[in-house]
Amino acid sequence: MFTIDDLADRLGGYLPSDEIQQVRRAFYYAEQAHDGQSRRSGEPYVTHPLAVANILANMHMDHQSLMAAMLHDVIEDTGITKDALAAQFGEAVAELVDGVSKLTQITFEDKAVAQAENFQKMVMAMSQDIRVIIVKLADRLHNMRTLGALRPDKKRRIARETLEIYARIAGRLGINTIRVELEDLSFQAIHPMRAERIKRAVARARGNRRSTMRQIQDSLQRRLDEDDLVGSVVGRQKHLLSIYRKMHDQRKPFAEIMDVFGFRIITDSVDNCYRILGAVHNLYKPVPGRFKDYIAIPKANGYQSLHTTLFGPSGMPIEVQIRTREMEAMANNGIAAHWLYKAGQTERPIAVGSHARAREWVRGLLEMQRHAGDSLEFIEHVKNDLFPDDVYVFTPKGDIMELPQGATAVDFAYSVHTDIGNSCIACRIDRHLAPLSTPLESGQTLEIITAPGARPNLAWLNFVVTAKARSAIRHALKNQQRSEAIQLGRRLLNRALGGFETSLENLPTSRLAALLEELDLKSEDDLLETIGLGTRLAHATARRLVDNALTGDDKSSAETTTTSPHNGPIVINGSESMAISFARCCHPLPGDPVIGHLSIGKGIVVHRHDCGNLEELRDDPDKLVSLSWSKQIDQDFPVPLRIEVETRRGLIAELASLITDADANIERIGIEERDARLSIVNLTILVKGRIHLARIIKRLRNLNHIGRIVRARN
Ligand code: MN
Repeated sequence: MFTIDDLADRLGGYLPSDEIQQVRRAFYYAEQAHDGQSRRSGEPYVTHPLAVANILANMHMDHQSLMAAMLHDVIEDTGITKDALAAQFGEAVAELVDGVSKLTQITFEDKAVAQAENFQKMVMAMSQDIRVIIVKLADRLHNMRTLGALRPDKKRRIARETLEIYARIAGRLGINTIRVELEDLSFQAIHPMRAERIKRAVARARGNRRSTMRQIQDSLQRRLDEDDLVGSVVGRQKHLLSIYRKMHDQRKPFAEIMDVFGFRIITDSVDNCYRILGAVHNLYKPVPGRFKDYIAIPKANGYQSLHTTLFGPSGMPIEVQIRTREMEAMANNGIAAHWLYKAGQTERPIAVGSHARAREWVRGLLEMQRHAGDSLEFIEHVKNDLFPDDVYVFTPKGDIMELPQGATAVDFAYSVHTDIGNSCIACRIDRHLAPLSTPLESGQTLEIITAPGARPNLAWLNFVVTAKARSAIRHALKNQQRSEAIQLGRRLLNRALGGFETSLENLPTSRLAALLEELDLKSEDDLLETIGLGTRLAHATARRLVDNALTGDDKSSAETTTTSPHNGPIVINGSESMAISFARCCHPLPGDPVIGHLSIGKGIVVHRHDCGNLEELRDDPDKLVSLSWSKQIDQDFPVPLRIEVETRRGLIAELASLITDADANIERIGIEERDARLSIVNLTILVKGRIHLARIIKRLRNLNHIGRIVRARN
């Protein structure tokens, strides 16, 4: 059995002993944490993290990645917290473990296949540190190696997810050794029979060709030696899934795919790559048109090599790849090759800043592309995939929505559907109620709670980030404002008409039509809206309507009108949120005597009848509207209070709990003056009305050490 000592030996090849010691410590910690747990195979659980760390050791990953591998299931499976890990092993390792755990928590349902690309992006977006993904890939690789006796359907599900998401991510990052193994293991789990058949056919073909392979390999190697060229020749094999895909997608017979002999020659320098190319072309004739120079012009993912095809003995095709050790490492390990390299040099790898290193990798690709004169489009693509600016979240049904960074639940609601956005009132993030303004994070599941008749809130414009949400909210608010202004305009005009003992309904329609034409307005609603918004005066409009009517040919209808129901004051019922607003100078409450002021563009602003600001406004009595409060009004109103108290400890807490007990909320609290004896507390509380406020003030007076309580105004 593979032990921590075996691993430590292996690490001795590239890590200093203090770091190996830390990896050991992480192992012992994990062993204890998973104590009593075992894998399906019956082995102690800790064999799994150990095996994952070993995979990373083969890639020469840094000690923090190895420690994270040891601990990767600890948060998830043993209830030890991230903080506890941070205290033991440092912030960086704890972050890595936390990142891997978050990825583990996402369940990719069967839908994953349809949304594979988005899932891949989500995984990337969730991994702040590229090492999180590398650890996760190693974890998945070991789980795939030990799928064992799982139910076939479960196996297939995991395999499909591996193929569509993790193998692809490995591919994007250029980690081909892991990609190839994940692909073959998945293929075997999804199509066990086909995989078995191909495996056997490959073994048979290989047996038949063994002597030919050896013969060619020897002659290639001999030629290098004769020419004093450094280089080793190895036979190359296609992996199962790539054979299957060729057969399946390109409809090629197995024999034809296997009919090619593949070799790879690894050397020490770029110069030698070209010298070796010359040597092998000298040995066997090249097939025209098959030579590719991926060293001078690398592939988009950074792959570099020389490719050529030769006519072998008796005309059989031989494919040869020639590359340096560095190119080989890059081809196998991609982004992970950066750890591999730095470790080989005397200079120590920088343990942190792995994202910087990932960027370096991307920059390396970019550099290569520039030399190659290729389009940068692919690189932009890779960059976006590696460092997505977007957030990926789930709908309750498991669909993935892509939103820009900083998007909130309201953005999400509008991106699902405008109606959902317009009627949303709350949200659950990962099943917990959360404010609509909470910025979303990748991997979260969002549920929007809607209510019929709910309306968008002006304040949402402060935090939404998507253009769709922004314009939908504006649009809805505008419609809402218009319909409220029309309603209010109708009430105002009817009230004014009441003074002439008529009403809109009782006026002949020709009167209205004539006035609309005179004013160049399209509809009755347009007229009412201008009245409701205060840009046109109800009284003057009523007079013109009535004058028209009286001088017109249809006097009778105006004359027959008796008392109008529209005579009384306008009732404030709290639902007209846009056309009626409450003055901030005097903070009127239901129950206060109030007066409305028509202010242009704003509709009616409600003031207390004794508000100082009204004095100047009284000059224009046409703009004042008498108002009354509806009994049904159920809304919280802010009211500022100024309280003198004797200074002592616990005072604010006492005030706060008293107010909360009285079913009022505190909106703001501040202490204005404070000396040894006296403090002035400025409070703004939310109350239902004047009676509610009176009750609270009474209770406050019952407190000891309380002086004057004043309802403040600005
Ligand atoms: Mn695991």
